[in-house]
Amino acid sequence: MQDPLLHRPAPSDDPLGRFFWQSGADGVLRFLRCGDCGYWLHPPSSRCPQCLSANVAPQPVSGRATVHTFTINVQPWTPGQEPYVYAIVEFPEQDGLRLTTNVVGCPIDEVRIGQQVRVAFVDRNDAYYPVFVPEAT
Ligand SMILES: [Zn+2]
Repeated sequence: MQDPLLHRPAPSDDPLGRFFWQSGADGVLRFLRCGDCGYWLHPPSSRCPQCLSANVAPQPVSGRATVHTFTINVQPWTPGQEPYVYAIVEFPEQDGLRLTTNVVGCPIDEVRIGQQVRVAFVDRNDAYYPVFVPEAT
């Protein structure tokens, strides 16, 4: 199976985003959510862009998403790198709540816009990278 994360460096140690990279330790994907208006924030920010509240905290999402768009990377950035799917997925929790990620667990030519996927985590470099696999149909 293709492994787009094999040579990926560790994420930055930004305190605001640290929860995101550790969230997968219990298998649950989390984003910041505003405690005042309910707006989901990604990428992380210290204030809600909707109501400017600083009352934001990590909250779990279902982990189910839809492939919004994708591309197939064929450039071997590191020796031996196989082609992989680089995708933007959108979550049902909020219109426009999207994550740039990888779709894995199926042949790269089977990925489709609108496909239902769910989160999985790859534990590497002291971080849990969220990736997405096709929902069983
Ligand atoms: Zn808000």
